[in-house]
Amino acid sequence: MSPPSDHRRTALICGITGQDGCYLAAHLLGLGYRVVGTSRSSSSDRLAGLRRLGIDRQVTIEPVSLAEAEPLANLIERERPDLVFHLAGQSSVAVSFDQPAETFESIATSTLHLLEAIRTAAVPPRLFVAGSSEIFGTRQTAPVTCCSPLDPQNPYALAKTTAFRIVQQYRREHGLFACTGVLFNHESPLRPARFVTQKIVAGACAIASGHKQELRLGDLSMERDWGWAPEYVVAMEQMLTRDTPEDFILATGRSHRLQDFVAAAFSSVGLDWQNHVVRDDRFVRPNDGSHPLASVAEATDRLGWTATVQLPELVRRMVAARQSDEVANVSRAA
Ligand code: NDP
Repeated sequence: MSPPSDHRRTALICGITGQDGCYLAAHLLGLGYRVVGTSRSSSSDRLAGLRRLGIDRQVTIEPVSLAEAEPLANLIERERPDLVFHLAGQSSVAVSFDQPAETFESIATSTLHLLEAIRTAAVPPRLFVAGSSEIFGTRQTAPVTCCSPLDPQNPYALAKTTAFRIVQQYRREHGLFACTGVLFNHESPLRPARFVTQKIVAGACAIASGHKQELRLGDLSMERDWGWAPEYVVAMEQMLTRDTPEDFILATGRSHRLQDFVAAAFSSVGLDWQNHVVRDDRFVRPNDGSHPLASVAEATDRLGWTATVQLPELVRRMVAARQSDEVANVSRAA
């Protein structure tokens, strides 16, 4: 679909319909890129996030799965992207226990397919791959860097660890401009409902509006580093537009207990969480301990990127977005 007169730089986002894909598309359009994205389906309900950001008509969606190498290689040959972002794949740790093969293929095998497509392309684009803090496991005591020992403890983490290593190998052996952003948790109103943060925000809002009595959650003591997703996609683009390919940890550098997230969400709607949250062991996952602290020095010093939105503000923004959606739904129904 690239018209000959279109001289804009082109970015291909694999997984454009997800949380990060939508924000990254908006960011790249703002920088003047032509944006092409992949989705496994051409169904329009997949476009909800892009629609919410008002950019669904400004991007081209290609119904290409990353499960097979050839369609991906053809897409790259046809579109000739300058930058490729791999944000697709099964992204939930909880789901990965039930779907280990799907998780591995959609994260690790797909990365291999992309790297091969890029290695054999007439003009190899630069590649960003979304990694995960899950690769470090839960037993490390010092703040982690990209050189810290890897200790994957669930199927999702194993897949991300494999992808991380494959990217390093292709960079070393084939000289590709390919790198991994080791992402710590990052949230937004576009976070899918199956994630605990969105469940907490939805639960607090439903209790505040009288539609629900209680919220059932698992272990509230586990710690995570939560950042604001729209800031993380800026770092992804920066990683591909510097002189050398390098892996970076992308995080705020601060950890909070899930209980802090819960307290902030309930406080944003004027409630005390302790009156409404019930512990339910069915929601406690195996090996679901606290993540290690992230060292953000390299991202700050060499990438020039810092996450500025901290937990209380992040939660306030998610709650405000949820409440305004509820108001809009009520007015539509009236
Ligand atoms: P989302 O789950 O929101 O989006 C991922 C996209 O990948 C989906 O929109 C979907 O697109 C596609 N997808 C989902 N399941 C599969 C599958 N089984 N096979 C192939 N494609 C699939 O993820 P995020 O945007 O939040 O995350 C982007 C990347 O960053 C992911 O790789 C995730 O693992 C990683 N990451 C995210 C973190 C976070 O806190 N958000 C933290 C650490 C890592 P479609 O249905 O249209 O094909």
